[in-house]
Amino acid sequence: MPSSNTLSLVSPPEGLQERVRQRSVPVGQVVAWWLGGAGFIFKTSQGTQLFVDPYLSDVVNDIFGQQRAFPPPLTADQACPDVLICTHWHEDHLDPGSIPIIARNNPTALLLMPPSALARAVSWGVPRRQITTLKAGQTLTIKDITITAVAARHNAGVEGWEVYDGVCLTLEIDGMKIFFSGDTEYDTSLRNLRNLDFDSAFLSMNGVGGNMNAHEAALLAWHWGVGTVVPMHHHLWLNAAASDEATLDPDLLASSYSKLGGIGRVIAPIVGDEIVLSRVTNGRAGHRFISNAGTTQK
Ligand SMILES: [Zn+2]
Repeated sequence: MPSSNTLSLVSPPEGLQERVRQRSVPVGQVVAWWLGGAGFIFKTSQGTQLFVDPYLSDVVNDIFGQQRAFPPPLTADQACPDVLICTHWHEDHLDPGSIPIIARNNPTALLLMPPSALARAVSWGVPRRQITTLKAGQTLTIKDITITAVAARHNAGVEGWEVYDGVCLTLEIDGMKIFFSGDTEYDTSLRNLRNLDFDSAFLSMNGVGGNMNAHEAALLAWHWGVGTVVPMHHHLWLNAAASDEATLDPDLLASSYSKLGGIGRVIAPIVGDEIVLSRVTNGRAGHRFISNAGTTQK
């Protein structure tokens, strides 16, 4: 039975599809809605709907006995993306229970995914022409979104579920730069992205299955000096806390980030609720070094 803490992470799901459709987004902003796990819908000022890693079925229960903790906030039949990105082929990111339905219902939607994900989607009957491959180092502009793929380091440690081509994403929309981790371990190559001056970062923080833990995600966000940090991938499974390495509380990330000297916003998402993202207007917002003597340097 979900704890009350778990229930507070999910808003009543009714009408998400309609809320997304009706939401008009001012220029200079992007609005995001959490679908649970690493799934998000992003909507731009031009009305573009970008879906990333939507997991809307319960197929992982059939495969691994991992049951979802809450009903999907919208069904595969309700999804109407203009662009849909899967960061890698694992079923909670490339959902066999919803990707074929979404592709069929939205024939003009463009799907982007790494080659090993593409091979699976095509085998499920998704038309090859509807999918564009997305590999680390590649940049694509679709409508008003410029997407760059960055190599992820994602080792879930499950034989047969190895991923060699998973990606993280940088999204540039209306002059705003958003980092989306997908699934990745902490890696020093990610630190080097600091020069990109992200306004916002969506960071996996569950700490198991080949992902950063809350403290590693906090360190990355602090190092980059992002204005807004959105912890993710901490809430999807009913029995997610089975490992003592799991870090599932966004407050853990927030407190580590604050101890490091981070001064950006940490927004713990609620499934089905919106998050408004805007540009950091005063340069690097969240980067502050605290020396041993307690003095602070920008
Ligand atoms: Zn995952």
